[in-house]
Amino acid sequence: MTISNRPNISFEFFPTKTDAGHQKLLANARQLAGYNPDFFSCTYGAGGSTRDRTLTTVLQLDSEIKVPTAPHISCVGDSKAELRELLNLYKNAGIRRIVALRGDLPSGMGQASGELRYANELVEFIRSETQDHFHIEIAAYPEMHPQARNFEDDVANFARKVRAGANSAITQYFFSADCYFHFVERATGAGVEIPIVPGIMPITNYSKLARFSDACGADIPRWIRKQLEAYGDDSESIRKFGEQVITEMCERLLQGGAPGLHFYTLNQAEPSLAIWNNLGLGS
Ligand code: FAD
Repeated sequence: MTISNRPNISFEFFPTKTDAGHQKLLANARQLAGYNPDFFSCTYGAGGSTRDRTLTTVLQLDSEIKVPTAPHISCVGDSKAELRELLNLYKNAGIRRIVALRGDLPSGMGQASGELRYANELVEFIRSETQDHFHIEIAAYPEMHPQARNFEDDVANFARKVRAGANSAITQYFFSADCYFHFVERATGAGVEIPIVPGIMPITNYSKLARFSDACGADIPRWIRKQLEAYGDDSESIRKFGEQVITEMCERLLQGGAPGLHFYTLNQAEPSLAIWNNLGLGS
């Protein structure tokens, strides 16, 4: 498949706990930077657990690897004063894009202590503190956020977040292009006009993927699950099958009008690059 107008491509990383992990992250980021992505992003541990590591990683990716990098920021466990301080640090460092989230406190961290309850309030706060400085990304859930009362409510909440001032959205990952198109259609019906970019999770390890998907409410269709289970420890077959399934889904997404792809890299370059190359996205 060859795509003439290159869609927006971005890669997400998470800040690591060890120096060895951090060096590996930087090496993979350098490799991905060679493909001229539109931006990188780096996650944030709700409650501030990765506050310093996210900040350091973002500034390093942005200034040393020279790919514009968007920090994730979450409001569930941070006070307005803490959020204001972070926003100013990023603004003064020349960061122009931010991913605004409610976040999930890790189990054991107790009750949410933040002053803002939902991401729409965080988007409003960012706009009131920094006006139009940041391009604000928000999260979207084609298969519905696990805590939403129902799909309609979730779409209405998503639309509220957009009206608060978001510029574009990145979805939770999914394995069915149809659920993405359905969500976009419903969001458009609710008045949403911003780009909604599919979040893409390469498949490399079944047990990790199954655990992760249970927690975030992403459905692994039975035919994919059964095939991955059947491969057992045969990681090469899992990799090949996963690459084919995700490449085909990305082709459908792009042909159906998705404005870009956001890869959840899990700090590895190869699985995302394999899909990128299969799609003929060039560099
Ligand atoms: P919200 O948009 O606030 O929605 C949360 C829930 O509340 C939904 O069920 C929604 O329907 C409901 N809701 C929203 N507004 C209202 C309202 N006003 N009244 C009543 N109900 C409402 N988590 C992290 O901790 N760190 C990260 O770095 C991180 N990065 C992510 C990146 C992406 C692209 C995505 C898709 C998710 C990411 N997450 C991250 C996970 C995210 O924080 C969780 O999914 C979290 O549970 C919800 O965050 P949100 O910003 O979507 O919340």
